[in-house]
Amino acid sequence: GMLGFWFRAMLWKQIAMALVVGSATGIALNMTGHIEIATSIKYAGSFFISAIKMLVVPIVFVSLVCGMTSISDVGRMGFIGLKAMTFYIATTAIAISIGLFLGIVFEPGASINLVADQTVEVREAPPFLEVLLGVIPTNPIAAAADGNILQIIFFAIIFGLAVTLAGPVARPIREFFEALNAVILKLAEVVISFAPYGVFALMTWVTGTYGLDLLLPLGTLIVAVYLGCFLHGLIVYGGLVSFVAKLSPVRFFQGVFEPMIVAFTSTSSSGTLPVTISAVDKNLGVSRSVSSFTLPLGATINMDGTALYQGVTALFIAQAYGVELNVTDYLTIVLTATLASIGSAGVPGGGLVMLSLVLTSVGLPLEGVAIIAGVDRILDMARTALNVTGDCACTLLVAKSEGEVDLSAYDTPHVLKAAS
Ligand code: ASP
Repeated sequence: GMLGFWFRAMLWKQIAMALVVGSATGIALNMTGHIEIATSIKYAGSFFISAIKMLVVPIVFVSLVCGMTSISDVGRMGFIGLKAMTFYIATTAIAISIGLFLGIVFEPGASINLVADQTVEVREAPPFLEVLLGVIPTNPIAAAADGNILQIIFFAIIFGLAVTLAGPVARPIREFFEALNAVILKLAEVVISFAPYGVFALMTWVTGTYGLDLLLPLGTLIVAVYLGCFLHGLIVYGGLVSFVAKLSPVRFFQGVFEPMIVAFTSTSSSGTLPVTISAVDKNLGVSRSVSSFTLPLGATINMDGTALYQGVTALFIAQAYGVELNVTDYLTIVLTATLASIGSAGVPGGGLVMLSLVLTSVGLPLEGVAIIAGVDRILDMARTALNVTGDCACTLLVAKSEGEVDLSAYDTPHVLKAAS
């Protein structure tokens, strides 16, 4: 019967069904005035999110140490890093341009008339030297306790290199990490199998608390951000995967479906990492010598969805307050939104916090953030899904160029792998 049908379905199908049924349930609860039920269902989703987050620090550290010990050539590692960074920054700039384009075409703020009650002073971008210095943890245990991903990446890289450099005497350490890695990936698999229930609960909560009415006034803004994320994913990632990596884009999107939906509902790229790492490994056949480095890095600094959203919302706020922007302003937005998206934490609402940087750089009123905040969760879902997809696309491209993709694993239909 129904139950058998549910338990026999592939995980990604269960997740897709949960998304649809959860949204419908939330809207029904909202329309019948049972918002408190939707709010309480959120806790079921929070169990799932906490369980994945639990795995972030161990999975990033252990998989990166394993990735490093499997690399014999340090120069090559640096080259991989350089390629990944180039890709990350270039796609981010494209994303903002798409955002600005849609902001100009859709004019989401045109029908809103607001008057700023304060003049804004122009603020500077964050001191990047400080950000760079902050990458070195003075206390690696504290870095792990704080979940500071960049510091954990740094320590894992030099630790892994040292394991290689130490030679035969360190063999037990390498084997220990290999075994630990297998255990943690297994643990991730178990947690991920609960994804449909988490997705259902979170979708019920979001649609139940927002409802359709609340979304209408800012509908154009929401449509612009969603359309932008969709286009960037399809054209930029789809295009790069097919024409640069020469791989099937359909397989790519099938393979990253689970992390996309977990990102969509959890609105945290860092929190989604365990799911991302497991999908890129299993579904795309990418060797961990590439992915163990590029995925945690991407989850921390590569946020195309966030950059796109910052472009659209900056224009939205300018239009709502009747501020005219010139070409210099647009270029300033491209620059500051690139920096702001790099600086955004991969946590819910991380991009909203950094939006203030973009606004002040072109003298837009900060109160605009308050209007956006009302629907930010809805926008966060789309941008986080794009952020995570971008990390996977970059990882696949870099791995392909390094000959680190297992093509038979990539070409095996996702559905068959799930069944086996
Ligand atoms: N929630 C986003 C992420 O984790 C960041 C943002 O708020 O834009 O990727």
